[in-house]
Amino acid sequence: MPAVLGGGIGGLSAAYYLTRRFVNPVTVYEASNRLGGWIRSENHYDENFIFEAGPRTIRTKGPAATNTLELLEDLNLNKDIYPICDTHPAARNRMVYAKGRLNMLPNSLTGAFKTLPPFTKPLISALFHDLRAGSKKQKINDESMYDFVERRFGKEIADYAISPMICGICAGNAKEISVRFLMNDLFEWEQKHGGVIKGLLFRDKKKAIKKQSEGVLPKLAKDQKWSIYSIKGGLEMLPKTLADYLTIYSDIQLNSNCQKVTFSKDGSAEICINDKAITTDHVVSSLPAFTLATAVEEQHPDLAGRLNEIPYVDVAVVNLQYRSPDLLEQEAFGFLVPPIENLPILGVIFDSCCFNMRGNTVLTCMLGGHWFEKLFGKNPTEKDILDVALKNVHDILGIEVEPKTSRVHILRKCIPQYTVGHKARVDGIRDYVKKHKLPLSLCGSAFDGVGVNDVILSSRNQVDHIVGCQ
Ligand SMILES: Cc1cc2nc3c(=O)[nH]c(=O)nc-3n(C[C@H](O)[C@H](O)[C@H](O)COP(=O)(O)OP(=O)(O)OC[C@H]3O[C@@H](n4cnc5c(N)ncnc54)[C@H](O)[C@@H]3O)c2cc1C
Repeated sequence: MPAVLGGGIGGLSAAYYLTRRFVNPVTVYEASNRLGGWIRSENHYDENFIFEAGPRTIRTKGPAATNTLELLEDLNLNKDIYPICDTHPAARNRMVYAKGRLNMLPNSLTGAFKTLPPFTKPLISALFHDLRAGSKKQKINDESMYDFVERRFGKEIADYAISPMICGICAGNAKEISVRFLMNDLFEWEQKHGGVIKGLLFRDKKKAIKKQSEGVLPKLAKDQKWSIYSIKGGLEMLPKTLADYLTIYSDIQLNSNCQKVTFSKDGSAEICINDKAITTDHVVSSLPAFTLATAVEEQHPDLAGRLNEIPYVDVAVVNLQYRSPDLLEQEAFGFLVPPIENLPILGVIFDSCCFNMRGNTVLTCMLGGHWFEKLFGKNPTEKDILDVALKNVHDILGIEVEPKTSRVHILRKCIPQYTVGHKARVDGIRDYVKKHKLPLSLCGSAFDGVGVNDVILSSRNQVDHIVGCQ
């Protein structure tokens, strides 16, 4: 019977795909007393608002997104999806706070021809920059997002568009994050054709043809032009529904801390859960890379060393509810703060603009990430963090009133950082597992993408690989 380590979305979806493909039941071991990992919704039904401590929206575009929609359909969640369509202000309007003001990023072709602050030139000029820039003399395997974008599109785009975007996606520093993380195609076009625009024109069009999903939900999302979505009752409904499904077909053990994993010569593995040894024929780990490293270190120090090379950052999430519906001047998803501005926040999400939270203004302020310790020291109190969030909400959004309800979550080591060389690092880890014939599959946010969609697809691919090997 396979053992799944970790009961976040990675582990639960791995267990789901395992049960769909195997007859045998699966056991999920989760260290804490709840499932869902970073997905955690606090639902205030009586006051019509929800606080999300972790992720709040899921994207709808691309193969990983289609896979999640197919999963939701299988789980009968169609009627519970809360979509935001392309025309909604929360889908169209994204802002950056820079040069002392909130700036709406261009969201139409005409906008790209205008000079809109914080930029000093129309965005279209970035394309000419790419055409003029030429290519690197020597082929390279990877570089930072910042360096790539600065080289191809200019410093302003790197500072005011890409750097805040990286803060929004992984709370990371674009100067360290691998270009292959988000712009793999663009990077490869440059390597092959000498520029991004040239690559776009001369790319292999056959490769770009996408397989159509046969699912009802992916079709609905396409027809109705969904941009992002949540689930009624909060995003935690997804792991909850998965867990309900799994309790029928498999065994979920909470408060079950995996301390050690040892592999035997006969092809089986022994996992040590709360000091008790359990034998299994295959381990699917969705644990954070550093936790798995500790578990395998004694028998496989080299593997542990490679896993430990994947760094993580701490993020503080502050949820704020104001008992007034109209505190925001702008209708938008929210705003991000470029690191060049040296402010102590990463950005603010306008939850009550994204979703109807009748009678309330609800905001989420994100802080820290790559800069957590530099800004707040090793052990800030919740009050320290709340004060910083409130001051910035006041200064930037002009909100004078005190929130009626607030929550501060200090999420330690919550987002892995795909720094330059990440792909080679992950390939090296998987090669090690293959070379040593370890009955171990690796999924979870450490490896193949940090978004909920990526994590689910990674679980599916790992399970397909186990099935394919049998
Ligand atoms: C603040 C924040 C905002 C985000 N926003 C978005 C968003 O809007 N959209 C989006 O798509 N993605 C977002 N993400 C990313 C996404 O939420 C995560 O990448 C994803 O939830 C990670 O799932 P996981 O299963 O890989 O890891 P986790 O959620 O970390 O799950 C791992 C599980 O393993 C358990 N565990 C740890 N150690 C052990 C052990 N020794 N034994 C047994 N169990 C153990 C943990 O308790 C946990 O339950 C966000 C992430 C954060 C932190």
